[in-house]
Amino acid sequence: MMAIVQLDKNTIEKIAAGEVIESPLSIVKELVENSIDAKAKNIVVEIKNGGKSYIRVTDDGTGIEEYELELAFKRHATSKINTFDDLYNIFTLGFRGEALSSILACADLTLISCTKNSKVGKKVVYKNNKLIHKSSIATNIGTSIEVYNLFKNIPVRRKFLASDIRESNRISRLIHAFALGYDGISFKFIKDDRFIFHTLENQNLISKIYNLIDENLKDELIHLEIKNNLYEISGYTSSINYYRGNRSLQYIFINNRLVEYKKISNSIEDTYSGLIPNSRYPAFFIFINTNSNNVDVNIHPNKREIKLSYEDELLSLIKENIGKKVIENVSSKEIKIKN
Ligand code: ADP
Ligand code: MG
Repeated sequence: MMAIVQLDKNTIEKIAAGEVIESPLSIVKELVENSIDAKAKNIVVEIKNGGKSYIRVTDDGTGIEEYELELAFKRHATSKINTFDDLYNIFTLGFRGEALSSILACADLTLISCTKNSKVGKKVVYKNNKLIHKSSIATNIGTSIEVYNLFKNIPVRRKFLASDIRESNRISRLIHAFALGYDGISFKFIKDDRFIFHTLENQNLISKIYNLIDENLKDELIHLEIKNNLYEISGYTSSINYYRGNRSLQYIFINNRLVEYKKISNSIEDTYSGLIPNSRYPAFFIFINTNSNNVDVNIHPNKREIKLSYEDELLSLIKENIGKKVIENVSSKEIKIKN
């Protein structure tokens, strides 16, 4: 046994950063969430080599005031909550004040930002977790953050990253999700200097699904509009004619936050059992809204999972209603064929 020692600041930072930043995907997620929270209307994501060698997210949001620039990079520095209780009445995606500081702990970064109050933009460059350069620069209102040399100081994590193709597919799926989930925002994705896709502000959900996900969903989407006194569910789920070998086309948003929620996906999948082959999965794009008091967003540093206080009520709402819609869709198609 070793003697008990208190870990040094650098080690603590690396450990904490590891919970937030696991891969290039986590960086893209945190940066885009910040752009959304900054009320951006246009967000451009650029990556190279699956994000391993380069990530840049550019937005036209509020920008960061010059006097707050360095504070934004401090751990637990946030403009989004003041007290713990604010977490239960939250409308922003961020709240932990950990993303920028965590990125600095595992990569180098350049930020350019300009607000409507500032006459000129500011550029800051961080290397090895230290500010090494600050200057003025002409730029539009908004923020652009470039991240490079990812995990250069954490070789194990670098080693465990997936191939460039897999990492960039994961990022591409994430940008699809953001584009589907946020109506008022246009998203553009550029990969290895190649333009991949672009969605328009206020492009409707259905056309985004056809364009980004799969044209074959055209006649296979079932519209959902379900509610009880606690939850409102809207969106689309696939008909029994459309299924996939994996869950990659399952998107769940709760109060505008993209989440992974196994019990919800399982309960939707259950409504298809016997209707589609075994080990095949439906596609769905589900938006659930509930009072923010019912949602605990603070269960994991990466914020991918949340907890609902009236989970059973939601699951039975799903079971009863989505199942019914799927069956109704089958019989309406049969009737059409008979006629
Ligand atoms: P959090 O999002 O949890 O507040 P972050 O570390 O992600 O923490 O960001 C720290 C702060 O920096 C944010 O609260 C916000 O004030 C500011 N910020 C970060 N990114 C942007 C951006 N793209 N536009 C405007 N402000 C930003
Ligand atoms: Mg954030």
